[in-house]
Amino acid sequence: MDYRLTDEQELLVDSIKEFCERYTSEEQIREMYENHRMSEELTSAWMENGFGLMGIPEKYEGIDTDLVTLGLLTEEFAHYSGCLLPVLNNTLAMRDFIDFGATDEQISEAMANYMETGQPIFSLGFSEPAAGSDNQAMTCVTRKQADGTYILSGQKTWVTQGEVFPNVLVIAKDEDPSRDNRSMSMWIVPKDIKGLSTAPLHKIGNKVAAFCEMYFDDVVLTEDMRIGEPGKGFFNLMKNFEMERCLIVAQCIGTAQAAMDDAAAYVSERQTFGRPIADYQLIQLKLTEMEVALQNSRNMLYKTLWKMDNGESVRIDSALLKYYVVKACVEVASNAMQIYGGLGYTTETRLGRIWIDLRGMQIAGGTDEIMVYIAGRQLAKKYARS
Ligand SMILES: Cc1cc2nc3c(=O)[nH]c(=O)nc-3n(C[C@H](O)[C@H](O)[C@H](O)COP(=O)(O)OP(=O)(O)OC[C@H]3O[C@@H](n4cnc5c(N)ncnc54)[C@H](O)[C@@H]3O)c2cc1C
Repeated sequence: MDYRLTDEQELLVDSIKEFCERYTSEEQIREMYENHRMSEELTSAWMENGFGLMGIPEKYEGIDTDLVTLGLLTEEFAHYSGCLLPVLNNTLAMRDFIDFGATDEQISEAMANYMETGQPIFSLGFSEPAAGSDNQAMTCVTRKQADGTYILSGQKTWVTQGEVFPNVLVIAKDEDPSRDNRSMSMWIVPKDIKGLSTAPLHKIGNKVAAFCEMYFDDVVLTEDMRIGEPGKGFFNLMKNFEMERCLIVAQCIGTAQAAMDDAAAYVSERQTFGRPIADYQLIQLKLTEMEVALQNSRNMLYKTLWKMDNGESVRIDSALLKYYVVKACVEVASNAMQIYGGLGYTTETRLGRIWIDLRGMQIAGGTDEIMVYIAGRQLAKKYARS
């Protein structure tokens, strides 16, 4: 086992640090948080520096990158920015588009736009008001018409960047909305198409990427708007769930590390009863538990990414990883806030934002309980006595 970073990875970390010093100062982050979007300056510099191309196949003008390195990029960007900025989500969206079976023509159009703006051409709409964890309960449906077009009707919700990106990638059942129907397809639908309307939803955290509701009222779709094979929409969507979970986790570790950096420095600066609070064992215990959580989280993340890079199954690992790490990172942020006392509960520090942003990740990308559901069943099988 070799835990050292390669020379290229060391360089990458240094350049991410420099990048963040320039484009993600606390003042810049606060502005993006208020505007509910990343600054154009940041997204275009991200592309110009080549970071936005890492993880996209070379065949499509990207830079082939192993997942361990992509995890490192994600973690360190979150660490030095101290915020869950959605740049790596954009890379993942582009990768999804390729992996979900878009045609070369659809991909090159999407890539051209991505290269220019640093943003994917679509948001992802799969959750519905009555179908979040339970995707099979979705009722959004398309019905084929005599003229070969399709009529899409239904509602999606919590669509991240739904009001920002020009299209939405929708998953809808084919012909029949009933629970038993497992045939679903993916469609790329322009946001300004007739019959589509949106309504903002107000998040309590993660405010750089807003989300919204979407209503599809007899929207007419044509065959060229379909992405991937008919009937295989949900199967395609699941392809990148594990990678998505790993990148969420990498972001969480980086952001929690930023909280650790602040709190661990503060303990030597803040005095009570004539001594720095670093002298008190209850504070030392918090720092110790925070560091253990961060180191454990990192070990689990990079082992899982290494397994993926080497073609091994991470079905159990990725669920265990998301279940353990996100909660651990929320706890790290909460402890950091506690160490700051009253100041930690104000907007003078970034700790409140970090804590509330991290908390959302116990729901997004599969809830904690669903991670238990995935891992628990597999573990029972794995350890069953034959
Ligand atoms: C920040 C954020 C961003 C998001 N972005 C998007 C997006 O871009 N596109 C999109 O389509 N969706 C998005 N979502 C929606 C997200 O995928 C869903 O919120 C999530 O899957 C949970 O679904 P739900 O909210 O309907 O909760 P429910 O499924 O109704 O669950 C309610 C509670 O019951 C628990 N539960 C459910 N089933 C079980 C079970 N079998 N066993 C034990 N407990 C269970 C859940 O864990 C949860 O605690 C986002 C959500 C958040 C918070």
